[in-house]
Amino acid sequence: MAYGPSWATSFREGYMGQPSSPVSGTRSKPSPPIRVSLRLATPPMATAADGGTRRRRGRGGKGPNSDLSRTLTDCTRRGDAAAAMAAFDAAASGPDDLRLAAHQYNQLLHLLATAPFPGHPAAAARRVFAHMLGAGAAPSEATITSLARVVAADADAEGADEAFALVSTMRDKYGLAPRLRSYSPVLAAFRRAGDAGKAYAVEAHMAASAVSPEEPEVAALLEVSAKAGDADKVYEYMHKLRRAVGCVTEETAEVLEGWFRSEEAAAAGKAEWDACRVKEAIVAKGGGCHQLGWLRTGPWTVQRVRVAADGECGGCGCRLASVDIDMEDTHKFADSISGLALERETKANFSHFQEWLEEHKEYEAIVDGANIALYQQNFSEGGFSLVQLDAVVTELRDRYNGKWPLVVLHNKRIAKLMETPSNRHLIEIWRANGALYTSPSGSNDDWYWLYAAIGLNCLLVTNDEMRDHIFELLGSSSFFYKWKQRHRVKYTFNKGKAVLVLPPPYSSEIQESETGSWHVPIEEKSGDERARTWLCIGRTDLTKLPREPLVANGVAQDLSPSEASNGAGQRQSAEQAAPVTGKRKDRD
Ligand SMILES: [Zn+2]
Repeated sequence: MAYGPSWATSFREGYMGQPSSPVSGTRSKPSPPIRVSLRLATPPMATAADGGTRRRRGRGGKGPNSDLSRTLTDCTRRGDAAAAMAAFDAAASGPDDLRLAAHQYNQLLHLLATAPFPGHPAAAARRVFAHMLGAGAAPSEATITSLARVVAADADAEGADEAFALVSTMRDKYGLAPRLRSYSPVLAAFRRAGDAGKAYAVEAHMAASAVSPEEPEVAALLEVSAKAGDADKVYEYMHKLRRAVGCVTEETAEVLEGWFRSEEAAAAGKAEWDACRVKEAIVAKGGGCHQLGWLRTGPWTVQRVRVAADGECGGCGCRLASVDIDMEDTHKFADSISGLALERETKANFSHFQEWLEEHKEYEAIVDGANIALYQQNFSEGGFSLVQLDAVVTELRDRYNGKWPLVVLHNKRIAKLMETPSNRHLIEIWRANGALYTSPSGSNDDWYWLYAAIGLNCLLVTNDEMRDHIFELLGSSSFFYKWKQRHRVKYTFNKGKAVLVLPPPYSSEIQESETGSWHVPIEEKSGDERARTWLCIGRTDLTKLPREPLVANGVAQDLSPSEASNGAGQRQSAEQAAPVTGKRKDRD
């Protein structure tokens, strides 16, 4: 801290009454905290200088309580809540008018919320907060959050209610928006108290404040609803958990195991349902769930299992789904791409492409032509390799019973390629089979292949990570990541043959099957998918579930045996493909 000379003079003369005091005169060497607190506890005299010092208050703790301020900073560094409160209480009970800056009250409350404190931390925090309000310092979100955290952790049952009241009124009282961290300790307190109704009320308040629960909060809600035997709520929170996380922590897994082994879980569900409706719902939702409620009744079997590389569950034998974004999101996504493209591309050109695509919906795969033709071509004789592109087209046709993919290539490339007879021959074959779309001069072909792949809901062959500017326009939405995981096909070449790296055959996320079973991945720190433990949860009376692979969002997931059964091979190929540098962009 840098103290101005006028303040130092005022401090020495007006407040301490000791102009030459070595303590107050020391600027670069803070006094030992214990001495400071003693000094503040027994100020030598109350003077009439209050008016003078008060003027200088409110400037980040440069007031007369700067020794206390240093004590607080020091205690914060050491995590010593007891010493900080001792200094505060001593100063507050002294004859002087103690006023701290808002951040100092926050420091104290934060210490009480995070550091061990002998005695009664909630009482201490209430005291600090009351003093803060009395001193006219404005609370911030951090103030209320720390206070709520201390109060909620209090052993007495009213602590949770008081904490909830603090958080739920902070907007009305102080104009402060609660955050997830404000609600979290309140939910945790109602979880400990086993008060489901109040936990639901906290969740409702969170929703009204547009705060989304994350795993700890959903786990808390799951546990209270499970303990209350509220099967509908557990079902609701299972789906909230599915949306909030990929895989779950060990702690959450235990909460789930607890529920599925309960009598209430065995009783929950319906004996009959419309299987077609369930299937349709699964397709519409992207393949990982139906959300139509608990299916079947009777006790559950909960196992900890591994999943094979092709997605076959080691417990029940069913095939896990590769989960896509749902249909609604897919449509919205396509619309946002076309909206952005129409703003940036020549409108007539892109509209023409959209109309053309409307007439040609049969493609299984879209090919980012420039990305493939330029792959590893940055050596001296390297160039635009139509041979590489042809190898990918051939491999795709082999895979899809001779069906042609759609190659998107920029106009200027085509013009150049047509100068060579062998290239011209190939291009003419592609054209004759509807396998080529030429993006016009002045366009950015990225918009074209991306729109086609999303609009037709099919695979996209590119090594492009899709992280540059046009993808930034889409925002960092998790569903773009999910879409990419499910649709992007990477490639390498082995002795001139294209090796395609298809999306993984199943998704490591919570899945609800059409027979009502659940699969929950538990976090795997090694990063090795094969080592991951899953919870396989199904009704005991079902010995084996159907083995047929599910369909996600209309995209069939029957991969050829080679990549479906060879996870290791895929991983290796992905590594080989990794060092590829970004492709050169085709514009103009
Ligand atoms: Zn299973």
